[in-house]
Amino acid sequence: MKTSNKLILATLLVTTLTVIPFYLSHTFKKEVSETDNQNTFDSKNNDYNFENYVNQLENEVWQGLKELNISKESCLAKIKEIKATQSQDDALKNNPMISGVLSPNIITFAQSVISGCGINPDIVKIVSTNDPSPAFVDEYKILYINETELKSYSADAAQWVIAHECQHLIHDDINLRLAVHALLPQEFKNAWGQGNPDAPLNKLLLFSEIRADIGAALAQEKFALGYCEFAK
Ligand SMILES: [Zn+2]
Repeated sequence: MKTSNKLILATLLVTTLTVIPFYLSHTFKKEVSETDNQNTFDSKNNDYNFENYVNQLENEVWQGLKELNISKESCLAKIKEIKATQSQDDALKNNPMISGVLSPNIITFAQSVISGCGINPDIVKIVSTNDPSPAFVDEYKILYINETELKSYSADAAQWVIAHECQHLIHDDINLRLAVHALLPQEFKNAWGQGNPDAPLNKLLLFSEIRADIGAALAQEKFALGYCEFAK
């Protein structure tokens, strides 16, 4: 893969404002119109079921990829293949995305969120970046933080930003995107992240962002509060 493609991929992992109005409503425990959210509202339990929503989005993604002869199994096999060639140590060397040094405070802060998301902080390398986004991760489990940007948010919102990135690590989203990209017919590879929102690849991107938003916010109450603050 070209370096520029890698940079594009990494940029796509930048925390996005994929704010779903009814998710926010859930967090705020506000009333939401049931008709708008039939797939999310669980009338049996009289509450919103975001797992259902995420599952439904995921099914749509796999359905679309199936039409391109890409199965979940083939993706998992591809991810395995990709991971066999990856080295976090190598990725840290001469990495154009790394710039500057983080303060010990911010590293401790990020590590506490990583632990809070159920990830062993030892496996995530935290580095400083000048990229304009507050934080993003790559396929090597490197967490890039723009300290100035991250500090421009409240502590709760900053926690949520890191928690969102942790969800990408938990679901191995970056490798999933790389695997799908590798398996796509040539004419679809160029449509990565742009153009038709119904294109399978774009659906995958949107789905993984929404899953990260929701997963992060549901992981801990304080992260949900941070999500709301971030969205403001
Ligand atoms: Zn993201």
